[in-house]
Amino acid sequence: MKKIIMHIDVNNAFLSWSACDMLKHGYKIDIRNINSIIGGDEKQRSGIVLAKSENAKKFGIKTAETIYSAKKKCNNLQVFLPDFRVYSHYSNAMYKILCDYSDKIERFSIDECFLDYTYSQKLFGTADECAKKISNRIYTELGFTVNVGIGDNKLLAKMASDLEKPNKICTIYKNEIKDKMWILPIEELFMTGRKSVPKLHNLNIFTIGDLANFDLKILKKTFGKMGMQMYEYANGIDDSDVDNSRQEYKGIGNSITTNVDILNKSIAYNILLSISELVGKRLRAENKYTNVINVQLKSADFVTQSHQRKLLNSTNITKEIYNVAKELFDEFWNGQPIRSFGIRLDELQDDKDGQISFLADERLKEKSNKLDKVIDNTRNKYGNNIIKRAVFLDNVIPNMLNKEK
Ligand SMILES: [Mg+2]
Repeated sequence: MKKIIMHIDVNNAFLSWSACDMLKHGYKIDIRNINSIIGGDEKQRSGIVLAKSENAKKFGIKTAETIYSAKKKCNNLQVFLPDFRVYSHYSNAMYKILCDYSDKIERFSIDECFLDYTYSQKLFGTADECAKKISNRIYTELGFTVNVGIGDNKLLAKMASDLEKPNKICTIYKNEIKDKMWILPIEELFMTGRKSVPKLHNLNIFTIGDLANFDLKILKKTFGKMGMQMYEYANGIDDSDVDNSRQEYKGIGNSITTNVDILNKSIAYNILLSISELVGKRLRAENKYTNVINVQLKSADFVTQSHQRKLLNSTNITKEIYNVAKELFDEFWNGQPIRSFGIRLDELQDDKDGQISFLADERLKEKSNKLDKVIDNTRNKYGNNIIKRAVFLDNVIPNMLNKEK
């Protein structure tokens, strides 16, 4: 049977998702319609733009430039912090809708999925009709728009979803490659690295069509293995399967809702330590390391704030997670009563990159690592309450642990 693949891509994901979440919580303005960006802490000059509204784009603001320079371009620019708990919530919610239309879905990134539609046509009609249904459902049920690309394989679906934006459904079937794909500049071919572009230009390759019709031998000579792949992609060839083994957007989070409002800093620290232990344990159980730590606080009047930090080196050690969480907390807690604390670990990876870490003394670190393992093993055997770190004994830790879904 002839394969049909869809690529679903959220339009301006971080900004859209923040906007949806804020509207849901009573914020009166849709930040998609004002001069706004999502970015790191603007007090730090190093904070960068992660996403920008259409309005902000008109001022020449670019993703990854510093917030400092973005603000110089547009003086009433509103800056909102990213919230990865919200993002993973919407990512999961979209995935759930997609699951109604196929059992073969690949989560390609937090805001992109491939969906194998080959065997779903009998149930849901043509790919075009179904793409409309999917796009409408995502908009009415979740509040944001997506692009859907449709093609005979993943590459063509991905290229199709990039043709026009936003809120569009486009196809690139094999017989459309020449008209829709070959006319595009070579920079737009999937997986073509920035470094390759000048080399391709040197070979007089400026469009995807130029590459598709170029001498394969010369490409192989210039680019090695990549040369072959670039040539195949330019010709719309891609046999890779939709890989549905990644069903969950991987990120680990836990939160604690307290039965009394917390005003005391040292109790707050202890709560953060207990959450650090929970997320650390889950992280180690999956043999992963985290690169991003996010702390979220909900005040007694239900205002949620979060702060995150990208680590210089990945970690899976409770003490390191806790130290960062504590620093983040100190940075943004304004003394308001808190009713809920959360920590989320994002950008998980398999291997430790093995560089210097927060704990300068590597031996101390090894010790922490061993201690974590002993605690994990004992808890696995006897349950989570068996070991309490000494600091907990002085304080009553409020109840209710919520494992984030
Ligand atoms: Mg996107």
